[in-house]
Amino acid sequence: MRVAKRLENLPPYLFVEITKKIAEKRAKGEDIISFAVGDPDIPTPSHIISRLIEAAQDSTNHRYPESDGLPELRQAVAEWYQKRFDVSLNSEKEVLPLIGAKEGIAHIAFSFIDPGDTVLVPDPAYPVYAIGTILAGGRPHYLPLTAGNNFLPNLRTIPEHILEMTKLLWINYPNNPTGAVADLRFFNQVVEFAKKNDIAVCHDGPYTEVAFDGYEPVSFLQADGAKEVGVEFHSLSKSFNMTGWRIGVVVGNELIVKALMTLKSNIDSGIPQAIQLMAIEALSGPQDCILEHNTIYQRRRDLVVEVLNKIGLEAQTPMASLYVWAKVPPGYTSASFAADLLEQVGVVVTPGLGYGPSGEGYVRLSLTVADASLVKGLSRLAGWRDDVNKFRIKVS
Ligand SMILES: *Cc1c(COP(=O)(O)O)cnc(C)c1O
Repeated sequence: MRVAKRLENLPPYLFVEITKKIAEKRAKGEDIISFAVGDPDIPTPSHIISRLIEAAQDSTNHRYPESDGLPELRQAVAEWYQKRFDVSLNSEKEVLPLIGAKEGIAHIAFSFIDPGDTVLVPDPAYPVYAIGTILAGGRPHYLPLTAGNNFLPNLRTIPEHILEMTKLLWINYPNNPTGAVADLRFFNQVVEFAKKNDIAVCHDGPYTEVAFDGYEPVSFLQADGAKEVGVEFHSLSKSFNMTGWRIGVVVGNELIVKALMTLKSNIDSGIPQAIQLMAIEALSGPQDCILEHNTIYQRRRDLVVEVLNKIGLEAQTPMASLYVWAKVPPGYTSASFAADLLEQVGVVVTPGLGYGPSGEGYVRLSLTVADASLVKGLSRLAGWRDDVNKFRIKVS
């Protein structure tokens, strides 16, 4: 038996080594604390769960859902965008519910990319932008995100011959893994760039609701003319702690939405209707849970940044997202530092290299660690410094 070449051509999964080591240690009964997963530890708010329980009892929700989602859900998404971002959407043509944003992010490549086409992909980034591209036969062209440019891509330095082959541009703010944010000025520049080069823009925005200190992230669709060139992926996962229920949405350009819909209607049969009703409840119901969760994340963020800086990692305080992106101490690679932390103090962080070559020299810590574990993990991290100092004294 032989699997398709398209699977063999995928880049190696860079977390293999560390995942194996964690499993070994846990099997031996070692207590490992992981800052690696971006998956909210706080449960889905109870009013949303109540809606599911009610919907599960209703037999109309036991049958095949429509591929394009309940009209009431598309309407709720449009109303939420209007209220939250002052962006008007036609709920018939510019809104498409997804089985989690990830599903749409991977599939959109199959609606737009022919073999040999180029896709502009940030580096470091959520791996699915590049993987979807590769699976569809396209070629990712990486745009480095560096601290010097506030982790925004430099659109002016992309070679002309690349632009000629490019069909799509991926951007993601608030950003995973760097925690960087973008303002409307940047999004306006992206629209201009896209128009000039005839490139479709996919903005991935699952963290627009996860922000701190009163900061309110903007939507890409707030940029002038954004709907003429692009779409925005949004997710209920991070905003409402609903990662396990699998529901997201893509909104914006009618042609792009339709192209993804055409593909999807041939692959899946939509999102379980009871879960769509949960999403309606989340978007239309009380929004207090967002601030409540952000207050918890903000407190964790401050603790994490403080400890990291104390042990000699340069960590900026993110204004949004669930992540702290920290520079590893001199003399380490992102992988050797992550391996050291696991070995010496039983703490897991994600090596930045796993998100792309420009992630080298960084590690990512997630704020979705329950408070008790977080405190324990941080006190272990704080102790790591002593080991380093001992090591330094030994070598000098
Ligand atoms: C979590 C995450 C997603 C996936 O969201 P789902 O709706 O759960 O599939 C997409 N993009 C980024 C950058 C993420 O961090």
